[in-house]
Amino acid sequence: MKIYVSVDMEGIAGVLLPEQLKKGERAYEEARKLLTAEVNVVIEALIEAGADDIYVKDAHGTGYNFIASELHQGARYCMGATNVANRFPGLDSSFDGAMLIGYHAMGGTEFAVRDHTMTSLGWQSIHLNGRPIGEIGIDSLIFGLHNVPVLFVTGDNKTCGEASKEIPNVRTYETKEGLGRHAALVKPPKLVYRELKEMIKESIDNRENVLPVTLDGPYELVMKFLSTDQVDQRYFDGRRSKRINGLTAAYSCDDILEVLSLAF
Ligand SMILES: [Zn+2]
Repeated sequence: MKIYVSVDMEGIAGVLLPEQLKKGERAYEEARKLLTAEVNVVIEALIEAGADDIYVKDAHGTGYNFIASELHQGARYCMGATNVANRFPGLDSSFDGAMLIGYHAMGGTEFAVRDHTMTSLGWQSIHLNGRPIGEIGIDSLIFGLHNVPVLFVTGDNKTCGEASKEIPNVRTYETKEGLGRHAALVKPPKLVYRELKEMIKESIDNRENVLPVTLDGPYELVMKFLSTDQVDQRYFDGRRSKRINGLTAAYSCDDILEVLSLAF
């Protein structure tokens, strides 16, 4: 069984402050330890559940957050910067399923730890074909392009709620309860590791009930920015990319990866 695991940092047990997510901060070094420990638990549980080929993507910020020397030997790790059209290097239709670990809710979600979509500094919201979408939705569509279902999502309670809306029958696990953007009712990481192992087994057993996420084209992605100068700096060709008003831009295309590449 072949599983692709994408790992963000905001939804990892014990992580909730901006300084934990930023290179150079002391708190970041501790957060990397929590991140690496949780990744190792996921791999251990996947192997116990029958996975024999595991690909793990370090998907936060620069893509270099795992502490390489401490990583479990049972997986391959994709680290470093990639562009949105190649967000999951090595992904193809040979994978049996995907997992989104340590994720966060879309930008604008109330009482969600570190809510944002792709970047905290860039834009307020993104709509795809008229529906608000965050990273869970975008990533499950990218996995869906390769016919790979997302079986399991972890993060705060808002992340799990968003995942259940985007992916019918997906299994989720709450690592914390959001009390605000920088506040949460935190579960002790050691408890999370024990419960996570159980949930991963359950999500593998549940895999026949989850379908790949798909969306028929053509695609229109509408982005609402934080300030007008961010939109001023963008190029619009008037066909596939247009400025709608001071704060809003729209990108349209028949190909989902192309529309994401145009926008991001
Ligand atoms: Zn992140």
